[in-house]
Amino acid sequence: MRDLRPAGWVILTYRDKPSLQPDQLYLEKIGLPIWEAEHRAAGLRQISAKTRRFVYERDGHMCRRCGVAAGEEYADDPGVHARLTLGHVNPHKSGNGANAEDLITECARCNETVKHLTGVQMTKEQVWDRMKELPLRGKRDLLAWMKVDHRPLSPAEKAWGMYRQLPAAVREELEKDLEALMRS
Ligand SMILES: [Zn+2]
Repeated sequence: MRDLRPAGWVILTYRDKPSLQPDQLYLEKIGLPIWEAEHRAAGLRQISAKTRRFVYERDGHMCRRCGVAAGEEYADDPGVHARLTLGHVNPHKSGNGANAEDLITECARCNETVKHLTGVQMTKEQVWDRMKELPLRGKRDLLAWMKVDHRPLSPAEKAWGMYRQLPAAVREELEKDLEALMRS
């Protein structure tokens, strides 16, 4: 937010807007696209080389959003090789820092996509309600991920991440192909 406000973004807190809870923010006005090169937040440039190395190592040199590895070819984009970069775990969180726990390894493509998502403002209660409803197995998995602050991807999830990058028409073809493969 330190980076957004100078770029013309108006973000209100409960001090500005009494209907908000202390942990909520309200986006009043969208400012300059700071994710574009010329407006890029200074924040990511302040990351030390040591933190950078640590985050890449921790994340196994793979995009934590789609699972692509550094230099790996995108399945839907032959000839295009993934370039890894660092992004913020939650690009819409206030007070994003340059510490390892605020950062995530992303490929440049996911990094771009994530920044264009609208920041859905979740309350603690909304998330807790969802957590409570999980079956025991789900609660166990979630807690394990929380403890290590990482959700290891299964091979199926990695395939899913790649599949989700494809255009809808190609995804439909793959769905049919997989169905056919499993029937044979
Ligand atoms: Zn990615």
